[in-house]
Amino acid sequence: MTWSIKSNRLNVEDLLTEESLYFTGNGYLGVRGNFEEGYTEEAKTIRGTYINAFHDITDITYGEKLYAFPETQQKLLNIIDSQTIKVALVHDGEEEWFSLFGKSGEVISYERALHFDKGYSERHIHWKSPSGKEVKIHFKRLVSFNHLEFFIQEIEVEPVNFNGIVKIFSNVNGDVSNFVDKNDPRVASGHAKRLEVTESKLEGSVAAVEVETYRSKLRAACAASYQLSVEGEINHKEGTQSIETIFTFDLAEKVTFTKTSVFTDTLRHGDHPIQTAIELHAKIGNQTFSHWLENQENYLKDFWKHAGIEIKGDESLQEGLRFNLYHLLQSAGRDRYSNISAKGLSGEGYEGHYFWDTEIYMVPVFLMTKPDLAKQLLLYRYSILDGARNRAKEMGHKQGALFPWRTISGSESSAYFPAGTAQYHISADVAYSYIQYFLATNDLEFLRDFGAEVLIETARLWIDTGHYHDGKFKIDAVTGPDEYTCIVNNNYYTNVMAKHNLKWAAKSLSLLKERYPEQYGGLIKRLNIGGNEESSWEEAAEKMYLPFDESLNINPQDDTFLQKAIWDFEHTPEDHYPLLLNYHPLTLYRYQVCKQADTVLAHFLLEDEQDMSVIKKSFDYYEKITTHDSSLSSCVFSIMAAKVGYYDKAYDYFIETARLDLDNTHGNTKDGLHMANMGGTWMAIVFGFAGLRVKESGIYFNPSIPKQWDSLAFSLQFQGRLLKISIDKNNVNVTIEEGNNLEVMIYEQSYEVSGDKALEVPLRS
Ligand code: BGC
Repeated sequence: MTWSIKSNRLNVEDLLTEESLYFTGNGYLGVRGNFEEGYTEEAKTIRGTYINAFHDITDITYGEKLYAFPETQQKLLNIIDSQTIKVALVHDGEEEWFSLFGKSGEVISYERALHFDKGYSERHIHWKSPSGKEVKIHFKRLVSFNHLEFFIQEIEVEPVNFNGIVKIFSNVNGDVSNFVDKNDPRVASGHAKRLEVTESKLEGSVAAVEVETYRSKLRAACAASYQLSVEGEINHKEGTQSIETIFTFDLAEKVTFTKTSVFTDTLRHGDHPIQTAIELHAKIGNQTFSHWLENQENYLKDFWKHAGIEIKGDESLQEGLRFNLYHLLQSAGRDRYSNISAKGLSGEGYEGHYFWDTEIYMVPVFLMTKPDLAKQLLLYRYSILDGARNRAKEMGHKQGALFPWRTISGSESSAYFPAGTAQYHISADVAYSYIQYFLATNDLEFLRDFGAEVLIETARLWIDTGHYHDGKFKIDAVTGPDEYTCIVNNNYYTNVMAKHNLKWAAKSLSLLKERYPEQYGGLIKRLNIGGNEESSWEEAAEKMYLPFDESLNINPQDDTFLQKAIWDFEHTPEDHYPLLLNYHPLTLYRYQVCKQADTVLAHFLLEDEQDMSVIKKSFDYYEKITTHDSSLSSCVFSIMAAKVGYYDKAYDYFIETARLDLDNTHGNTKDGLHMANMGGTWMAIVFGFAGLRVKESGIYFNPSIPKQWDSLAFSLQFQGRLLKISIDKNNVNVTIEEGNNLEVMIYEQSYEVSGDKALEVPLRS
């Protein structure tokens, strides 16, 4: 039951949300869960198919444009629609087109499902036409994990009380636009149409369409072909925007119709995407749905073996967990052009941009379950390092790399700098993910070839941004993760993350010097690393100023945060949340009110920088003034509630995260799923309840289990091993399923775990 989600809702508002929930993708391609046959005229739908990183460039218009404001931004584009398939029953020349809405007959039964273990979605429908003819229609669709360009749909039409002529209409349509909403800053407000059809043709029986964007001049293509299980008549209509095909056949028994679409683009497939799509199609386009399904299942078997989490005692959370992990897998970029956008490939919210969300909320999941994918995500950042170097220069820095706050192809796409470019912490977040990658994999070669350079360039940024004052290294005029407090001096999160970044830049160089002296020499030369640079990073790290308030025994979020008045929560009406949609930013900036975890997040990522009493007091303090208007917040509060021993709270925050999209609690799931929160769900279990930390000194657990659950079990990859952790009400067990012995720390005590014997430690109450 918990391996799939199901729904039989047909209310148009719910369906809009379900378009995101039921999306199918593979990190390259994403197809929203739109109905093949369409909706009623008046129903709002966001019909979308996306190729990760396939974007156009648009101008940013400012009322007052100041120096180094980005002039353009990137926008993920909705591309060629190959979802459309319509079915009509024909009698005496009358066509009755199947629809689940309006006066188009009666829906006797309807159910849709998305399967996380098998990797496809389906709809079962029993429909009676207006004149009383009944058929059962079964739609299935799958976006392949094994061949990223492939999307396949299968439709079975089965007669119930009707034998006669059936028509199937199918389309490959390049006349598409993006969704816009002028009143919501989280989605695009303009530039709906950004591409045009450059070619549409029928080659043999393959319908192919190619589109080109207005400005980036990227091109994408789709080639589709069909298989019908019975003889029938086929008519094609070649238009300038689309290729339509109509099949007419006799329905005497169950008929199967298959549509296979292949997508390509100029980023990955050379200069002739339409030809490549047709050729690829010729190679494997004739395989059946069940062939693709079998491969899909095998792929997922492996994925769940490494990433599965099992909760006994709560089915709805179990469902939420699998749903979240599955969608993460469906959205994670698999090549150097792409990453995971804030909404993955499920929708157009935030215009398909990649944020710090990836490094802090999603990389950890893959790092511990599918490190090859984590590596790929890091390589994307490496591929835009030059862009980050340029951005640092543009921003007046003499050295270093400043990663863009939001981007697709590497340049800054944020038009609102106080909560955009000013979030310098993204550079330390990227560095943090490289450090964690090294600690979890021990992959020194990756550090040598990519990581060290990123750490060095980001460390240089901090040296250039910060300055010494009263013997301390300080960083002014930046914004931390909390977007309700902008442009401040010494944001605790930024400073402590920069400190870690600086420390590891120096450390990575000494590691390389020892292990790869030759390459070390090469790097020093290539990056022109000066004689005292390494020690300047160490010194800045050591002298980093971390704000601390003695009377409250907490870390203030920044230098002036605690001087501000506290937001009047008592008199803020419920419907004024999220505050960002109801108050001018300056109003918010004047108060102690947090959109999301900031200092509390820093205490999770770098817990050894503070002692437990401060961490606990900070949690208490910030909890009272945090609205969690950002979906990146609850999971962090869940993790930290577990750390400080507030187990009930940890559970409540966890529930918030696990079903956020399934229950549409933020009200905007229609624009796409909240990917960071999805990663956060996994984090809340593994870093929260199980208390995992991966540090230079080893792997740590601090296990607990919510009283509502009977047991909790999950797998982890760590330095080439596959570990299984299970926690029940009495014990925690650690097993090494693959790989060498390992020393683990449980409740700060060290144990040696070997492959042939599970370690069992009593759970602390
Ligand atoms: C959050 C940011 C996040 C962005 C994209 C915003 O609402 O405040 O932290 O990066 O959404 O998910």
